[in-house]
Amino acid sequence: MINKKEIFEKNLDTVLRNIEQARLSVDEHSIIKLVAVSKYSSSEDIEMLYHLGQRAFGENHIQQLSERKEELKNLPLEWHMLGHIQTNKINKLIELKPSLIHSLDSVKLAVALNEKLALKNIKLSALLEINSASEESKSGVELSMAKDIYQEIRATCPNIILKGVMSIGAMSEDYEVVKKSFESTYDIFDALKYDGATICSMGMSGDYELAIKCGSSMVRVGSSIFKG
Ligand SMILES: *Cc1c(COP(=O)(O)O)cnc(C)c1O
Repeated sequence: MINKKEIFEKNLDTVLRNIEQARLSVDEHSIIKLVAVSKYSSSEDIEMLYHLGQRAFGENHIQQLSERKEELKNLPLEWHMLGHIQTNKINKLIELKPSLIHSLDSVKLAVALNEKLALKNIKLSALLEINSASEESKSGVELSMAKDIYQEIRATCPNIILKGVMSIGAMSEDYEVVKKSFESTYDIFDALKYDGATICSMGMSGDYELAIKCGSSMVRVGSSIFKG
């Protein structure tokens, strides 16, 4: 029988080495954070990854985040919320206090979230999600509006600590198209550094090395780590 832990160890090792290589090709002083996306795996799998040294995990659905967090509450894990947030789930999300929300994808959501946070006197950290290739299937604000929206949320939603931007690379087989989507996101991030942006979350299993070369500081990798 093949040992799952050995597979995870090998996968994690490969991903960490690839991140390191991509990082060194950009800037030896940069720090890249790995968020292991656990949406296709089980709590036992997450625990194995924890014992291999991984601490930050990401989920797409509030319900699943809630279950995982409860099942693994004895481990000092850091939880990231990555998926689209429905307004009626905001209270639940606040209860879970994720360490970072990557998917703040509209002013409307920000205003609703801020209102509930203010009532409870809580602050949460978030990233503005950008639809960097203007794809209809994706959430996120339009590239051309991103800077203004970021500043608007920063000015009007004091209970949301905006820490930067997130984007999912273009859904394309064409390397140049994907690269362009990351570069466009990075340009916005770069322009927002004076507005407190410190995190540029981009890159998934298929494109995290490219994303790092385009300036990503946080990659969200699922299948490359958890696949059996
Ligand atoms: C699923 C998901 C990931 C990870 O995807 P993989 O291709 O499995 O690495 C990253 N970010 C978001 C927002 C996701 O939904």
